[in-house]
Amino acid sequence: MTTVGILGGGQLARMMALSGAPLGLRFLVMDSVADACAGQFAPMVVGDYTDEAALAEFASQVDVATFDFENVPAASAEWLSSRVPVFPNPRALGLSQDRLAEKTLFRELGIPVPDFADITDRAALDAAVTTLGAPCILKTRRLGYDGKGQFRIKTAGDVDAAWEALGAQASTVGLILEAFVPFERELSVVAVRGRDGEFRSWPLTENWHVDGVLSASLAPARVDDAMAARAIAYAKSLAEAMDYVGVFALELFCRDGELLANEIAPRVHNSGHWTIEGSETSQFQNHLRAVLGLPLGDTRMVGRACMLNWIGEMPDAHPVLREPGGHWHDYGKSARTGRKVGHATLRADSAQELAQSLTRVGEALQRQTQVAPVVHALAI
Ligand code: ATP
Ligand code: MG
Ligand code: MG
Repeated sequence: MTTVGILGGGQLARMMALSGAPLGLRFLVMDSVADACAGQFAPMVVGDYTDEAALAEFASQVDVATFDFENVPAASAEWLSSRVPVFPNPRALGLSQDRLAEKTLFRELGIPVPDFADITDRAALDAAVTTLGAPCILKTRRLGYDGKGQFRIKTAGDVDAAWEALGAQASTVGLILEAFVPFERELSVVAVRGRDGEFRSWPLTENWHVDGVLSASLAPARVDDAMAARAIAYAKSLAEAMDYVGVFALELFCRDGELLANEIAPRVHNSGHWTIEGSETSQFQNHLRAVLGLPLGDTRMVGRACMLNWIGEMPDAHPVLREPGGHWHDYGKSARTGRKVGHATLRADSAQELAQSLTRVGEALQRQTQVAPVVHALAI
């Protein structure tokens, strides 16, 4: 019996455990909180990721370790990797934890990125705002997620407020200033690379964020074959450069036919949740296959799929469950403002049917504003 250890016990670990059950896998989750939602399906070690005793207990019980949480300290991942195989490797994890390191790597690989500058102090911020121009975004280099640790500088007059909000972190997690990209759409490549280097990608996904948090995803994205091929080639070159094993997502901005890389997520990704019902093999199962050295599954999709994130609290399930291609995911979390508590995936054979399904669900749940951009996208 193979036991997969997962650092982080959120919904990603939970969906991984659920998808691994048919493969006969066992799971052990480590999280700093005892009520982490993956703990409802897998035994847990509760402890801080820097706690060597907890990590040792975890390592002694697993055959391979992977992540649900991308901000596990790189030193802890290193320590673990001296005891048990860890995928993705700690170097890849470390690179994608640091916006400056990952953007530098993007550039080295010839992947276009928004202009950026390393911000070490207030003078560097003033200089960079002048060079990059406003609007721009000040972000923490490390530890940000769901748009946290970011300040949008709309005009040069906002620099004081930006420094007030994030300046203290320049000497701790570091800061980066990025040019604001007036993108037409956001895309992600969700891809997987096996232990033997085999690479596969799902069809590109188009994403809509609200206040920095993913709200809806549509697959396949509205892109032509040439752009899709370019995006997938970027993902492949990154995976090879990092000797990456497992599933990851590359987030891209699309503007005037150009693709600019935003960030890489070294794990299964929210924009890939639609693959559970919308493709031959889900991102969760392919991640497990990759880290265990099993043959990768086919990533083709049938028809179209839209995923809607439920943030804060779960809506009524009935309208989605009534849809022919409606699928419900409740993560078993308590309600809290801004928290991802679940999602729904709607699948249909045609764009028109998917738009109709989304419209019905949007009206029944009074979520018209959430579904509107996707319905609009499906109409053109
Ligand atoms: P997550 O890891 O949850 O995707 P995050 O906190 O790492 O989010 P980003 O992905 O960098 O943050 O930013 C969140 C969202 O904010 C992006 O998906 C995009 O909508 C917007 N955004 C971020 N950077 C830029 C930029 N340079 N120009 C325009 N919009 C941006
Ligand atoms: Mg991120
Ligand atoms: Mg992001």
